[in-house]
Amino acid sequence: MLEGAEARPGAGQERLRDSFGRAITDLRISVTDRCNYKCVYCRTGNEGAQYTELPVAHYLRMVRILVGLGIEKVRLTGGEPLLREGLVEMVAELAQMRTAYRHDGTKLEAGEMGEPLDLALTTNGHLLEKLAAPLKAAGLNRVTVSMDAVDPETFARITRVPRSYERVLAGVHAAQAAGLGPVKVNCVLLRGFNDSQIEAFAEFSRREGVIVRFIEFMPLEEDRTWTPEIVVRMDEILGRLNAWRPSCGVPAGLVPLPAHAASETARRYTFADGVGEIGIIAPVSHPFCGHCSRVRITSDGSVRTCLFSQSDHDLYGEMLRGGTDEQLAAYLRRVVMKKEARHHIGEPDFEKPSRNMVHIGG
Ligand code: SAM
Repeated sequence: MLEGAEARPGAGQERLRDSFGRAITDLRISVTDRCNYKCVYCRTGNEGAQYTELPVAHYLRMVRILVGLGIEKVRLTGGEPLLREGLVEMVAELAQMRTAYRHDGTKLEAGEMGEPLDLALTTNGHLLEKLAAPLKAAGLNRVTVSMDAVDPETFARITRVPRSYERVLAGVHAAQAAGLGPVKVNCVLLRGFNDSQIEAFAEFSRREGVIVRFIEFMPLEEDRTWTPEIVVRMDEILGRLNAWRPSCGVPAGLVPLPAHAASETARRYTFADGVGEIGIIAPVSHPFCGHCSRVRITSDGSVRTCLFSQSDHDLYGEMLRGGTDEQLAAYLRRVVMKKEARHHIGEPDFEKPSRNMVHIGG
């Protein structure tokens, strides 16, 4: 049920925070539930899209309201976002938006100009070769490409799409040529499946000039195959890379890099010669929920306050019931107050989330 904006003086001026005081500055929005890959650890391959997608104008309205509340970064995801018609035009619209708060968290005065949003995209890269330049021209700042192997055969076994590696590599090169670099490459490691690729990915980072980020596998898969044993944990990845010796006489050993921000999810490393960058995102072994600054909108317009939430909040339903921007802003403030303290992966009380990754938007 919608309520009017809070009557308390100044309440609408505070930036979006949850009940633990975490400022919510990052939005991930899924623009389609469809995907052209069937990655073995993500989807069964039997199910297609399970949720609808909204007209782009409705996503833009949601983003505009959230930016008014303090969102500074927007990441477009899916499903596979490059399948979405109107994506380039959507980016162009997002690029016109300006932040509503100063760096110190105070609200800008009327007439005071905010900064452009940080606009990023997560994609499997299959359609990136053609779309990288138009997306950059429209105002996209950064792209993250998901690649779970740098060996073409293993890659095709994971995506279940023939010759996918060549397509994605061409997409990475196109993104670099378009000025979307440094491109981030995200890799989810599964024991016994692609964990032999760790050192090859390090070489790939150095050779291709991309930031490789290893992500621990989370229990968010469609076919429910997650076990603690399948997860290749941060300490093991670090051990392997510390023992690895890059070619051309560079001594073995990772060199830590400083974090860009407290809310940064990746621990960052380079090598002794400064060539290549490896990030490790360890939600299972080293959770970072205490610094979480995120909220997500699914393709069908629901808000998720955590990847592991047990339910969604039907923002689109509130819109359809005629909510004004002020009412929707008040609704979003209430929803964010329900953001979970942390996830419970690996604990006896862990409950499977109500949606899996591909239907949330990673
Ligand atoms: N199709 C796009 C892509 O491939 O990047 C965006 C959606 S995809 C679901 C987003 C990311 O979630 C991918 O990097 C994928 O590897 C990751 N992912 C999927 N299931 C995961 C899981 N159970 N644990 C960790 N990451 C997962």
